[in-house]
Amino acid sequence: MTSKQTTKQIQEQLLAWYEIEARDLPWRRTSDPYAIWVSEIMLQQTRVDTVLAYFDPFLVRFPSLEALAAASIDEVLKAWEGLGYYRRAQNLHKASMLVAKRYDGDLPTTAGALRELPGIGPYTAAAIASIAFGQDEPVLDGNVVRVISRLFCLAGDVAKAATKKNLLAAAKRLVPAGQASQFNQALMDLGARICVPRTPLCGQCPVASHCEARRTGQESVFPQKAKKAQIPHRDVVAGAIWDGEPFAATSRLLIAQRKLDDMLGGLWELPGGGVEPGETFEAALHRELQEELAIEVEILRPFMTIKHAYTHFRMTLHVFHCLHTKGEPQSIDVADWIWAHPRELEDYAFPTADRKILAALTSGTDG
Ligand code: SF4
Repeated sequence: MTSKQTTKQIQEQLLAWYEIEARDLPWRRTSDPYAIWVSEIMLQQTRVDTVLAYFDPFLVRFPSLEALAAASIDEVLKAWEGLGYYRRAQNLHKASMLVAKRYDGDLPTTAGALRELPGIGPYTAAAIASIAFGQDEPVLDGNVVRVISRLFCLAGDVAKAATKKNLLAAAKRLVPAGQASQFNQALMDLGARICVPRTPLCGQCPVASHCEARRTGQESVFPQKAKKAQIPHRDVVAGAIWDGEPFAATSRLLIAQRKLDDMLGGLWELPGGGVEPGETFEAALHRELQEELAIEVEILRPFMTIKHAYTHFRMTLHVFHCLHTKGEPQSIDVADWIWAHPRELEDYAFPTADRKILAALTSGTDG
């Protein structure tokens, strides 16, 4: 157990370092809880550099919680397009409507009440409560986990609940009363810039003199992680389904909206789906189009092949030019569908994996 004096020194050294070295980030220039909430949702599983391109435009588009609550889900997804993990945008939108109704537009100030909102788990609740409302809550993001586990040589797989509990208790003991906002952000910055994963810059670390991993030469041993299982691979097929000659001036494409509850829910895509074992790509495409939209097509030729990695699987997407031959599309396993001219595709939000395909379709490039 760290002595009170050591804890105090760590707090002072880290806060003094942060005062000089804090990263200048747009969400740190505001005290608006709504903006801080948006930033915390965007930062979930996403790098700061990526979020920087989205944060300001999102707030220009939806400057207040009320503006977000009044928007349609399509507008919100369009603003989120390319940021990934679209369930976050859906939950943010849902939660804004709930807060507008239940709390008259003011976010609740405690971690407990925040956790009841869609899309806010223990980490995000603690981050918003401490950063926006100054509550004495510890936060544990990946950066903080690394710092804390090294600082105290905390053993155990960090993905396990028991280890997380120990880390949280250690972080809680460190938070100085009334200064959680600055202190939590200081810990995050230390992990992002100094106590980095491969080769920590211990020579520049403000708390190096208290670091157990540094003292015992075990910086590379912590944090402890179990070996990751190999990520599975899936073949997926999709149709660039035309109602005339591909790329002819009057030809339109059939696009479908994914169901809200599905992965990438609410986004638009070229219709298709996963290839089953033993199935040819062509057979899989015919089957998927029947199951999702009850249509028949003539598969004309291969168009493009795209590789994309999600968190839980890697995908190779095989796209074919198709001609619609039979059946008015029906929303059987999709939320909606529409015939759109290639130049209109920009009006819809598509997953990142589809961007290259859309660029080729919009510019008239055949594969
Ligand atoms: Fe991380 Fe090194 Fe600082 Fe320890 S001394 S907290 S390992 S940067």
